[in-house]
Amino acid sequence: MAEEKLPTRAENFAEWYNQLVLKAELADYAPVRGCMVVRPYGWALWENITAALDRRFKETGHVNAAFPTLIPMSFFEKEKEHVKGFSPELAVVTHGGGEKLEEPLVVRPTSETIIGHMYAKWIKSWRDLPVLVNQWGSVVRWELRTKLFLRTLEFYWQEGHTAHATAEEAKEEMYRMLDVYTDFAVNEAALPVLKGYKSEIERFAGAQVTTSIEGMMQDKRALQSGTSHYFGQNFAKAFEIQFMDQNNTLQFCETTSWGLSTRIIGAIIMTHGDDQGLILPPRLAPIQVIIVPIFKNDAERVKVMEVADRVFAELKAAGIRVKVDERDNVSSGFKFNDWEMRGVPLRLEVGPKDVEKGSVALARRDVPGRDGKSFVPQTDLARTVSGLLSEIQDAMLKRATAFRDANIHDPKDYEELKSVVADGWAFSWWCESAACESKVKEDTKATTRNIPLDQPEGNGTCIVCGKPAKKRVYFARAY
Ligand SMILES: [Zn+2]
Repeated sequence: MAEEKLPTRAENFAEWYNQLVLKAELADYAPVRGCMVVRPYGWALWENITAALDRRFKETGHVNAAFPTLIPMSFFEKEKEHVKGFSPELAVVTHGGGEKLEEPLVVRPTSETIIGHMYAKWIKSWRDLPVLVNQWGSVVRWELRTKLFLRTLEFYWQEGHTAHATAEEAKEEMYRMLDVYTDFAVNEAALPVLKGYKSEIERFAGAQVTTSIEGMMQDKRALQSGTSHYFGQNFAKAFEIQFMDQNNTLQFCETTSWGLSTRIIGAIIMTHGDDQGLILPPRLAPIQVIIVPIFKNDAERVKVMEVADRVFAELKAAGIRVKVDERDNVSSGFKFNDWEMRGVPLRLEVGPKDVEKGSVALARRDVPGRDGKSFVPQTDLARTVSGLLSEIQDAMLKRATAFRDANIHDPKDYEELKSVVADGWAFSWWCESAACESKVKEDTKATTRNIPLDQPEGNGTCIVCGKPAKKRVYFARAY
């Protein structure tokens, strides 16, 4: 329960975040360092996220399956970039049933290898393609510095894995899923993410092309919020995923993978939250409307509850996720703070005066104080509330977009870039050399976030070395 206030975002953004996650009861620390317990309220949010994504996956022709958590160690050694990228963070099982295992088993950090192994078995002919499979599950990566939702040893996610006959089809799939993530982020989570290509340094281990969606948090740091990869034939060759084409020639498949994790909850918190706590976008909020009945005595209680129950039934019937706070051991003020901490988009108050007037009071979470409050008639309430929820959803996206745009700069030279990325993002011409990218990282801790798919016209000169440049890229400090 929200007994104490959070530190303000301005005072200490990191601590504001940590305490918010705990006080809003989204997650808690586990007994194993770096692991996370997702509490029911956090999981309800994740369920709404998974439902919104899963619907989009199915609409684009994908099906779900489940692959095992344990993977033979030797699988990781088959693709050399992949093993190099993941070796430092593998958790390895050496014993089982009281005996030392002949071959150690890896707790999956991602599933390209095991799925590649199975695809090699299942795919025979061009008629079997494309294979469009997604899996919901968790993976383990032995991270050293952890933070709830953003980076934990074990996290929950989905990983899509697809196999295609041609490079064109596989690339099309990569872009399609990047668009699915973008559509989800913008229209469900109200996160105005930017999509683009990752640089070679930032690419997924084993990928030929990695694309991402990147969000700007309120401390102006970037958060990579979803990735979609094109592997070419790298994994197909490592795992012998082959098919007989229409001319009876044996060909290697072209594969992709794409993933989005519980990290997105961190993005939602850090994009929308305020000093009172979480602010959830209505489309994903586990509770969209909290009804707080207000009364002083039994006579008032009976009248007020009659209206509260009727309103509850009406909103519920209209498909709105609604709850009545019937606790009688805490004050109304406490309830207001508590639901504000949890980010419920709309509070609906019913008091004795509202009963008399046939009205209710509505308070928007995204607009604190008097400005966000309105008094509306009880008649046609479901329609009023639905309208207000979609207004809140739009306002949250608009506000986050304005914040993002106000904090992306176009520095005129390298000196200015250095000061810009201390408190914002830079969008600059870059010659695409790793040397220039690394220099920026060394000097400022900022990394390239992504290179927009749609580039501005013309050419420029690299912000770092001054050589001709064809691409503009976002530089930012990232989580
Ligand atoms: Zn350069």
